[in-house]
Parts: sequence; structure tokens; C-alpha cells
Amino acid sequence: MNIHEYQGKEIFRSMGVAVPEGSVAYTPEEAVDVAKTLDSDVYVVKAQIHAGGRGKAGGVKIAKSIDEVREYAKELLGKVLVTHQTGPEGKEVKRLLIEEGCDIQNEFYIGFVIDRATDRVVLMGSEEGGTEIEEVAEKTPEKIFKEVIDPVVGLMPYQAKRLAFNINIPKESVNKAAKLMLSLYNVFTEKDCAIVEINPLVSTGSGDVLALDAKINFDENALFRNKDIVELRDLDEEDPKEIEASKYDLSYVALDGNIGCMVNGAGLAMATMDTINHFGGKPANFLDVGGGATTEKVTEAFKIILGDEGVRGIFVNIFGGIMKCDVIAEGVVEAVKNVGLDIPLVVRLEGTNVERGKEILDGSDFDIIPASTMAEGAQKIIEAVNQNK
Ligand code: ADP
Ligand code: MG
Repeated sequence: MNIHEYQGKEIFRSMGVAVPEGSVAYTPEEAVDVAKTLDSDVYVVKAQIHAGGRGKAGGVKIAKSIDEVREYAKELLGKVLVTHQTGPEGKEVKRLLIEEGCDIQNEFYIGFVIDRATDRVVLMGSEEGGTEIEEVAEKTPEKIFKEVIDPVVGLMPYQAKRLAFNINIPKESVNKAAKLMLSLYNVFTEKDCAIVEINPLVSTGSGDVLALDAKINFDENALFRNKDIVELRDLDEEDPKEIEASKYDLSYVALDGNIGCMVNGAGLAMATMDTINHFGGKPANFLDVGGGATTEKVTEAFKIILGDEGVRGIFVNIFGGIMKCDVIAEGVVEAVKNVGLDIPLVVRLEGTNVERGKEILDGSDFDIIPASTMAEGAQKIIEAVNQNK
């Protein structure tokens, strides 16, 4: 789960990670009110959307007066911002962060991530702050430094200092930077984060070290014990179909192809998407209905898939292990009855009671195209979709 920059900064502030003074605003008047509370003559008006790259896209404005704050707030609120992370459709700006302008001397990158190769939390840093870290990793990997953290003792002060030296934080600011990293590690562990990134971390003219941006991604499996974090969720920033799916405990991720997939088990779901791609098709979604796929769940899954206007065909690929194929077949037929269907549907069932399941599909009044292997199913749905064009 992602949150906005201003929310991330509030968490930072409460846990001792230095950030500029500032606050959220939903209207130009609120923006002005916030600016008036700041002890500064330069203000920064920042669009709050769940995507980076706002600076380049015109979503970060430097205002030299209260009037400029109002003007920029008017300009940004309601604007659709397109950055390299939003996709071409962009995201509408509904909230702003108004904060004090910062006398930046140098920009750095630091981030905590979970490294699956070492099974450890890793602190990464680079002197190439402010730019895309993915690009630095690709073009100049020698400019990225890492500290692997032992979970028993946590991030050690010497590691934080070593990283600060490696990324060329000014000598007089190394202690401040190290302290910030140690506090940031506490944020990461206490709030059950998957990613915490500051880009840029800056050193200022007065020798301070501040987080000028804040990106936090939380591990959703731990949200049950972080109720305060759940409250920060902004449903406006999420795909409505994904929100609907989460209500029924379906793992759904929208993609931009035209073949809707309904599969049980994440591994099979990924294999199905690969197979569709292999035969030249494009999946419209990742959808794992889970082990206990009831008729209700299958019906909801159909509704969600059909709610995507780009879907031209559906491929159901289910392995009846815990669930029996005949129960699933009944679920599929029932769902089609409830939802209606005017696009091709290919169903491939395998596992317990598969023969009985196939009989149910054959015996239904609907035009369900059967397939006996994943490859055959993928080819059939691609063919049907292409014919329907
Ligand atoms: P994004 O990563 O979405 O582009 P950032 O928060 O990193 O957004 O801001 C982009 C750039 O804007 C920063 O690299 C920094 O140069 C400038 N900036 C952001 N906040 C401030 C601030 N409070 N004072 C001065 N400059 C800022
Ligand atoms: Mg940034």
C-alpha cells in the first residue's frame, strides 16, 4: 500500500527523520493558510499523487510570495499530471503539500528495500540524488552503495556513517545524515514497510540534512497490525476494480491487454499470463481467485473482469485441487447466468472430478469453449478474440 508524500513526511517527523516544515492543503485558500504559518519567504507547492517524477512534469512549484502560492495552488489543483510513473492517462491532483523552500546544496538518494538475494533489509545510497535511481543503477552502478542489515542488531551506526561517507555527504553533516538513516530504519521496521525511499535527501547551506521527498510502501500482509497506516489509504489513487476485488479477497491487478484471465493460485496465474503472451496475446489482468473459489467469488471475479472495457475475451484456467472441478464448473455457469456474456469464454479445467466438470460446461446453455491444456486454452482464446475483432 502506498501513501502520499505529505503523509510519509508526517510519519518521518514523528519518528525523528528531519523534513521541511509544511502541511497538506485541499484548496487554494488552505494553501495560503499553510504558507502563512511557515517561517520562510520561499514556499514550495507540491502536487500530491501516488507517483514520482512530479518535478519534471511541472508538479513542484517554487513560490516567492503568498500570492504565488495561491496562483500555483489554483493551477495545480484539478490538473491531470502525467509523469513517467502515472502512465499516459495521468493522475488528477486533489491535494497539495505546501512546505518551506529549502536551500539545497547537494541532492542524494537513500532508500531501504528488502533484498531477496540476501534475505535482508538493505540500505542503499547514492550521490546521484534527484534523478531516477533506476537510471543510475543501469548506467553507473558503481555510484550505488549498499549496507546489508543484520536483523538481530539492526542498522549499526558505523554502517550509516560508512554509507554517508561513500555517497559524499559533506563531512560536517555526516553525523546528522547517519542519525537520519538510523531513524529511517526504525520507520521501516516499526511500520512494516516494503520500501522507504528519500529522493532527494539534501544537505543545506546551514549544514542540515533533510528528507525533501518521501516514498513509503507498506507490506499489505502486516496492515492488520498497523491500523493507523490503513487510515492513510487514499482510494482515489487506486484502481476501482482492484478495490472491488480486495473486498472479495481476490488478488487482482489490472493490465492493459484484452484477454481477461481467471485463475486459481498466483503461480498458475502467472504461468497463464506467460502462456497468453507466448502465443501472441495480451492479458487484461492478473486475477487469482484463491483456493476456495466459491460461486460468489467466481461471479464477482467475472463482474470485475467484464467491468474492464478493454476485455474482448475471457480465459478461465482452474486447477481443481482443494476445489473440485465440478463445483468450479457450476460456479462458472452460475456466474455467466448472473452476469451475462457477449464475448468468447474459454474454460480449461484440470484435476479432481474434471470429467464431471466438463459435462456441466457442455450441458449448459452457454457457448463455452472447452480446452484441455493451458496452451490449447491460450491459443483458443487468442483465436476467438482475433475473430471477433
Ligand atoms: P518527484 O520525485 O516526484 O519529482 P520531489 O519531491 O523529489 O518530487 O521534488 C522534485 C524536486 O523539486 C527535488 O529534486 C528538489 O530539487 C525540488 N524540491 C522539492 N521540494 C523542495 C523544497 N521543499 N525546497 C526546495 N526544493 C524542493
Ligand atoms: Mg523525488
